Amino acid sequence: MRLFDTHCHLDFECFSEHFADHLETARRHQVERVLLPSIGMSNWQKVISLAEHHTGVYYALGMHPLFLNQQSEHQVTELRLLLERQQDLCVAVGECGLDAMIDVDMELQERLFVQQVELAIEFKLPLILHSRKTHNRLLQILKQKKFKFGGVLHGFSGSYQQAMQFVECGFYIGVGGVITYPRAMKTRQAVAQLAVESIVLETDSPDMPLNGHQGKNNHPKMLGEILSCLASLKGLPEQTIAEIVWKNSNFAFNICE
Ligand SMILES: [Zn+2]
Repeated sequence: MRLFDTHCHLDFECFSEHFADHLETARRHQVERVLLPSIGMSNWQKVISLAEHHTGVYYALGMHPLFLNQQSEHQVTELRLLLERQQDLCVAVGECGLDAMIDVDMELQERLFVQQVELAIEFKLPLILHSRKTHNRLLQILKQKKFKFGGVLHGFSGSYQQAMQFVECGFYIGVGGVITYPRAMKTRQAVAQLAVESIVLETDSPDMPLNGHQGKNNHPKMLGEILSCLASLKGLPEQTIAEIVWKNSNFAFNICE
């Protein structure tokens, strides 16, 4: 079985010192590929260098809404220059998006998101979307921009209808540890209803610990537990799902199998 953690922050301090060991641990748990989305200028170089020095590591360049500030608008030029120079291992723009649950000016968030959508279009790259209570607005912007390079709606929580609107826009639904919590009824129902063909798996490590692991750092090695939870929600064998989501993950980011 081969698994792909399509969203984990292994460049963060808690992992980066022993990066190779963490990657090896992930491999022992069948996680052969990982994608490191970036959060802003502060970690662009770090994700680039980690991917260049380790096999099976891919990255995305972008600006996470939580880390935007007054300087961010000037950093778009820098982001564009970096994207221009990137090759195969840079597989998406992100993570970027909107978040209505944080104290960051929504107009600033929207301006930066629109600019990142434009960069994704210019470089023909998919997007890794972050969205909290902003699904409709994100969809509006993507449609206005006629965005057609797909990507992943990361850390999905919401209804089946909401998920399908993104699927219809060409996005995969990033399913993570949320589904291991029995109280996440709406999201579990949505995921149970979604076709496996529309799903990719992610841990969002070190965030989003699984049920029973609260208070600890999440780790890509936990991806198998998300897979088994998904398998029981779908009533399908783990192996079957693993094969489909492996294909989806590579396809979403134009990576050769
Ligand atoms: Zn993230």
